Amino acid sequence: MRTPLLAGNWKMHKTVAEAVELVEALLQSIEQGYSTDREVVICPPFTALYPLAPLLAESVIALGAQNMYPADQGAFTGEISPLMLKEVGCRYVILGHSERRQLFGESDTLINRKVRAAVGHGLTPILCVGETKPQRDAGQAETVTLAQLRAGLEGLSAEQLRGVVVAYEPVWAIGTGDTATPADAQAMHAAIRAALAEGWGATVAEAVRVLYGGSVKPDNIDALMAQPDIDGALVGGASLVADQFVRIVNFEALSA
Ligand code: PEP
Repeated sequence: MRTPLLAGNWKMHKTVAEAVELVEALLQSIEQGYSTDREVVICPPFTALYPLAPLLAESVIALGAQNMYPADQGAFTGEISPLMLKEVGCRYVILGHSERRQLFGESDTLINRKVRAAVGHGLTPILCVGETKPQRDAGQAETVTLAQLRAGLEGLSAEQLRGVVVAYEPVWAIGTGDTATPADAQAMHAAIRAALAEGWGATVAEAVRVLYGGSVKPDNIDALMAQPDIDGALVGGASLVADQFVRIVNFEALSA
Protein backbone atom coordinates (compact mmCIF):
# COMPACT_ATOMS: atom_id res chain seq x y z
CA MET A 1 0.00 0.00 0.00
CA ARG A 2 1.60 3.25 -1.16
CA THR A 3 0.68 6.45 0.70
CA PRO A 4 -0.07 9.18 -1.86
CA LEU A 5 2.37 12.10 -1.80
CA LEU A 6 1.46 15.59 -2.96
CA ALA A 7 4.56 17.72 -3.44
CA GLY A 8 4.76 21.43 -4.25
CA ASN A 9 7.72 22.70 -6.25
CA TRP A 10 7.78 26.46 -5.74
CA LYS A 11 10.74 26.92 -8.14
CA MET A 12 12.25 30.44 -7.91
CA HIS A 13 9.11 32.02 -6.45
CA LYS A 14 8.34 33.66 -3.09
CA THR A 15 10.42 35.91 -0.91
CA VAL A 16 10.62 34.87 2.74
CA ALA A 17 7.69 37.15 3.64
CA GLU A 18 5.59 35.74 0.80
CA ALA A 19 6.58 32.18 1.69
CA VAL A 20 5.46 32.63 5.30
CA GLU A 21 2.15 34.05 4.11
CA LEU A 22 1.54 31.10 1.76
CA VAL A 23 2.47 28.52 4.40
CA GLU A 24 0.14 30.12 6.93
CA ALA A 25 -2.71 29.94 4.40
CA LEU A 26 -1.87 26.33 3.54
CA LEU A 27 -1.65 25.22 7.16
CA GLN A 28 -4.99 26.78 7.98
CA SER A 29 -6.81 24.95 5.20
CA ILE A 30 -4.86 21.71 4.97
CA GLU A 31 -5.02 20.93 8.66
CA GLN A 32 -8.82 21.29 8.70
CA GLY A 33 -10.15 17.87 7.89
CA TYR A 34 -6.71 16.60 6.87
CA SER A 35 -6.82 13.00 5.92
CA THR A 36 -3.87 10.99 7.20
CA ASP A 37 -4.03 8.70 4.19
CA ARG A 38 -1.81 11.13 2.26
CA GLU A 39 1.44 13.04 2.74
CA VAL A 40 2.24 16.61 1.76
CA VAL A 41 5.59 18.28 1.12
CA ILE A 42 6.49 21.76 -0.06
CA CYS A 43 9.82 22.64 -1.67
CA PRO A 44 10.41 26.39 -1.40
CA PRO A 45 13.58 28.23 -2.49
CA PHE A 46 16.66 27.74 -0.28
CA THR A 47 16.27 31.16 1.37
CA ALA A 48 12.86 30.26 2.76
CA LEU A 49 13.77 26.84 4.21
CA TYR A 50 15.16 28.04 7.52
CA PRO A 51 12.36 30.52 8.33
CA LEU A 52 9.66 28.02 7.32
CA ALA A 53 11.04 25.09 9.33
CA PRO A 54 9.61 26.15 12.71
CA LEU A 55 6.20 26.86 11.17
CA LEU A 56 6.08 23.37 9.68
CA ALA A 57 7.76 21.49 12.53
CA GLU A 58 4.61 20.17 14.22
CA SER A 59 2.48 20.23 11.09
CA VAL A 60 1.28 17.79 8.47
CA ILE A 61 3.42 19.48 5.80
CA ALA A 62 6.99 18.26 5.36
CA LEU A 63 9.81 20.43 4.07
CA GLY A 64 11.86 19.71 0.96
CA ALA A 65 14.50 21.43 -1.17
CA GLN A 66 14.69 21.78 -4.94
CA ASN A 67 18.30 20.80 -5.46
CA MET A 68 21.48 19.83 -3.64
CA TYR A 69 25.16 19.22 -4.32
CA PRO A 70 26.52 15.71 -3.60
CA ALA A 71 29.23 16.65 -1.09
CA ASP A 72 29.08 17.45 2.61
CA GLN A 73 31.11 20.65 2.33
CA GLY A 74 33.91 22.19 0.29
CA ALA A 75 34.83 24.62 -2.47
CA PHE A 76 31.55 24.44 -4.39
CA THR A 77 30.57 28.09 -4.71
CA GLY A 78 26.84 28.62 -4.80
CA GLU A 79 25.91 25.09 -3.78
CA ILE A 80 24.08 23.60 -0.78
CA SER A 81 24.96 20.28 0.86
CA PRO A 82 22.76 17.45 2.16
CA LEU A 83 24.00 18.19 5.68
CA MET A 84 22.77 21.77 5.36
CA LEU A 85 19.37 20.62 4.16
CA LYS A 86 19.08 18.14 7.03
CA GLU A 87 20.09 20.82 9.52
CA VAL A 88 17.20 23.08 8.51
CA GLY A 89 14.68 20.26 8.71
CA CYS A 90 14.34 19.09 5.12
CA ARG A 91 13.12 15.53 4.61
CA TYR A 92 12.86 15.60 0.83
CA VAL A 93 14.90 16.94 -2.07
CA ILE A 94 13.86 17.25 -5.72
CA LEU A 95 16.67 16.01 -7.97
CA GLY A 96 17.06 15.95 -11.75
CA HIS A 97 14.19 18.34 -12.48
CA SER A 98 14.04 19.01 -16.23
CA GLU A 99 14.84 22.68 -15.60
CA ARG A 100 18.08 21.59 -13.90
CA ARG A 101 18.83 19.24 -16.78
CA GLN A 102 18.05 21.75 -19.53
CA LEU A 103 19.04 25.14 -18.09
CA PHE A 104 21.96 24.05 -15.93
CA GLY A 105 23.29 21.13 -17.96
CA GLU A 106 22.89 18.49 -15.26
CA SER A 107 23.86 15.05 -16.54
CA ASP A 108 22.49 11.68 -15.49
CA THR A 109 25.85 10.99 -13.85
CA LEU A 110 25.68 14.08 -11.65
CA ILE A 111 22.04 13.42 -10.82
CA ASN A 112 22.93 9.86 -9.79
CA ARG A 113 25.63 11.19 -7.45
CA LYS A 114 23.05 13.53 -5.94
CA VAL A 115 20.51 10.72 -5.49
CA ARG A 116 23.09 8.54 -3.75
CA ALA A 117 24.24 11.39 -1.52
CA ALA A 118 20.65 12.21 -0.56
CA VAL A 119 19.87 8.58 0.30
CA GLY A 120 23.14 8.30 2.21
CA HIS A 121 22.10 11.25 4.38
CA GLY A 122 18.57 10.01 5.01
CA LEU A 123 16.90 12.52 2.69
CA THR A 124 14.18 11.26 0.36
CA PRO A 125 15.08 12.16 -3.22
CA ILE A 126 12.26 12.95 -5.62
CA LEU A 127 13.99 11.88 -8.84
CA CYS A 128 12.44 13.58 -11.89
CA VAL A 129 12.45 11.86 -15.25
CA GLY A 130 10.61 12.51 -18.50
CA GLU A 131 10.83 13.11 -22.21
CA THR A 132 10.67 16.26 -24.33
CA LYS A 133 8.03 16.86 -27.02
CA PRO A 134 10.34 15.99 -29.92
CA GLN A 135 11.34 12.79 -28.13
CA ARG A 136 7.66 11.86 -27.62
CA ASP A 137 6.84 12.69 -31.23
CA ALA A 138 9.72 10.46 -32.32
CA GLY A 139 8.30 7.55 -30.31
CA GLN A 140 11.16 7.69 -27.80
CA ALA A 141 9.24 8.72 -24.68
CA GLU A 142 9.61 5.42 -22.85
CA THR A 143 13.22 4.78 -23.89
CA VAL A 144 14.33 8.25 -22.76
CA THR A 145 12.39 8.18 -19.51
CA LEU A 146 13.55 4.71 -18.51
CA ALA A 147 17.17 5.53 -19.40
CA GLN A 148 17.02 8.56 -17.07
CA LEU A 149 15.41 6.38 -14.40
CA ARG A 150 18.04 3.62 -14.55
CA ALA A 151 20.93 6.10 -14.69
CA GLY A 152 19.56 8.16 -11.83
CA LEU A 153 19.12 5.13 -9.58
CA GLU A 154 22.28 3.26 -10.54
CA GLY A 155 24.15 1.72 -7.63
CA LEU A 156 21.26 1.84 -5.15
CA SER A 157 20.43 -1.33 -3.26
CA ALA A 158 16.84 -2.56 -3.11
CA GLU A 159 16.67 -1.34 0.48
CA GLN A 160 17.90 2.12 -0.54
CA LEU A 161 15.41 2.27 -3.40
CA ARG A 162 12.58 2.02 -0.88
CA GLY A 163 13.59 5.49 0.31
CA VAL A 164 13.27 7.07 -3.16
CA VAL A 165 10.33 8.78 -4.84
CA VAL A 166 10.22 8.95 -8.64
CA ALA A 167 8.39 11.75 -10.49
CA TYR A 168 7.41 11.24 -14.11
CA GLU A 169 7.36 14.72 -15.58
CA PRO A 170 6.97 14.92 -19.36
CA VAL A 171 8.87 18.10 -20.17
CA TRP A 172 6.22 19.27 -22.64
CA ALA A 173 3.63 19.26 -19.85
CA ILE A 174 5.58 21.38 -17.37
CA GLY A 175 4.19 24.89 -17.00
CA THR A 176 2.32 24.61 -20.30
CA GLY A 177 -1.21 23.71 -19.22
CA ASP A 178 -0.83 20.69 -21.48
CA THR A 179 -1.21 17.60 -19.25
CA ALA A 180 -0.61 13.99 -20.22
CA THR A 181 -3.92 12.17 -20.36
CA PRO A 182 -4.48 9.97 -17.31
CA ALA A 183 -4.17 6.93 -19.61
CA ASP A 184 -0.84 8.09 -21.12
CA ALA A 185 0.52 8.96 -17.70
CA GLN A 186 -0.61 5.57 -16.34
CA ALA A 187 1.12 3.77 -19.22
CA MET A 188 4.43 5.47 -18.42
CA HIS A 189 4.03 4.91 -14.68
CA ALA A 190 3.43 1.22 -15.32
CA ALA A 191 6.56 1.10 -17.50
CA ILE A 192 8.55 2.81 -14.73
CA ARG A 193 7.30 0.31 -12.16
CA ALA A 194 8.13 -2.59 -14.48
CA ALA A 195 11.68 -1.23 -14.92
CA LEU A 196 12.03 -0.92 -11.14
CA ALA A 197 10.84 -4.52 -10.74
CA GLU A 198 13.31 -5.71 -13.36
CA GLY A 199 16.22 -3.93 -11.67
CA TRP A 200 15.41 -4.28 -7.99
CA GLY A 201 12.63 -6.85 -7.63
CA ALA A 202 8.84 -6.73 -7.64
CA THR A 203 8.39 -6.21 -3.90
CA VAL A 204 10.43 -3.02 -3.81
CA ALA A 205 8.94 -1.79 -7.09
CA GLU A 206 5.48 -2.11 -5.56
CA ALA A 207 6.58 0.02 -2.61
CA VAL A 208 8.15 2.93 -4.55
CA ARG A 209 5.92 5.95 -5.08
CA VAL A 210 5.78 7.28 -8.63
CA LEU A 211 4.37 10.82 -8.85
CA TYR A 212 3.05 12.53 -11.96
CA GLY A 213 4.08 16.11 -12.70
CA GLY A 214 3.17 18.49 -15.50
CA SER A 215 0.34 21.04 -15.26
CA VAL A 216 -1.42 19.26 -12.41
CA LYS A 217 -4.41 21.40 -11.42
CA PRO A 218 -7.54 21.06 -9.28
CA ASP A 219 -9.52 20.00 -12.33
CA ASN A 220 -7.31 17.09 -13.39
CA ILE A 221 -5.92 15.73 -10.11
CA ASP A 222 -8.83 13.38 -9.38
CA ALA A 223 -8.64 11.61 -12.75
CA LEU A 224 -4.85 11.29 -12.48
CA MET A 225 -5.02 9.91 -8.94
CA ALA A 226 -7.59 7.33 -10.07
CA GLN A 227 -4.86 5.57 -12.06
CA PRO A 228 -3.41 2.53 -10.28
CA ASP A 229 0.26 3.45 -10.71
CA ILE A 230 -0.03 7.19 -10.03
CA ASP A 231 0.89 7.66 -6.39
CA GLY A 232 0.77 11.42 -6.12
CA ALA A 233 1.77 14.60 -7.89
CA LEU A 234 4.67 17.00 -8.19
CA VAL A 235 2.98 20.36 -8.64
CA GLY A 236 4.61 23.56 -9.87
CA GLY A 237 2.39 26.54 -10.69
CA ALA A 238 -0.68 25.36 -8.78
CA SER A 239 1.37 24.87 -5.59
CA LEU A 240 1.85 28.65 -5.41
CA VAL A 241 -1.86 29.33 -5.00
CA ALA A 242 -3.14 28.16 -1.62
CA ASP A 243 -6.68 27.25 -2.72
CA GLN A 244 -5.42 25.28 -5.70
CA PHE A 245 -2.79 23.32 -3.81
CA VAL A 246 -5.25 22.55 -1.01
CA ARG A 247 -7.74 21.18 -3.55
CA ILE A 248 -4.99 19.05 -5.06
CA VAL A 249 -4.01 17.72 -1.62
CA ASN A 250 -7.68 16.96 -0.98
CA PHE A 251 -8.00 14.99 -4.22
CA GLU A 252 -10.93 12.67 -4.33
CA ALA A 253 -10.09 9.03 -4.65
CA LEU A 254 -12.15 7.98 -7.67
CA SER A 255 -11.91 4.49 -8.96
CA ALA A 256 -10.35 4.21 -12.42
C1 PEP B 1 7.21 21.20 -11.99
O1 PEP B 1 7.83 22.23 -11.95
O2 PEP B 1 7.72 20.18 -11.53
C2 PEP B 1 5.88 21.20 -12.59
C3 PEP B 1 5.29 20.05 -12.79
O3 PEP B 1 5.34 22.42 -12.93
P1 PEP B 1 3.82 22.72 -13.37
O4 PEP B 1 2.92 22.03 -12.38
O5 PEP B 1 3.68 24.21 -13.30
O6 PEP B 1 3.65 22.18 -14.74
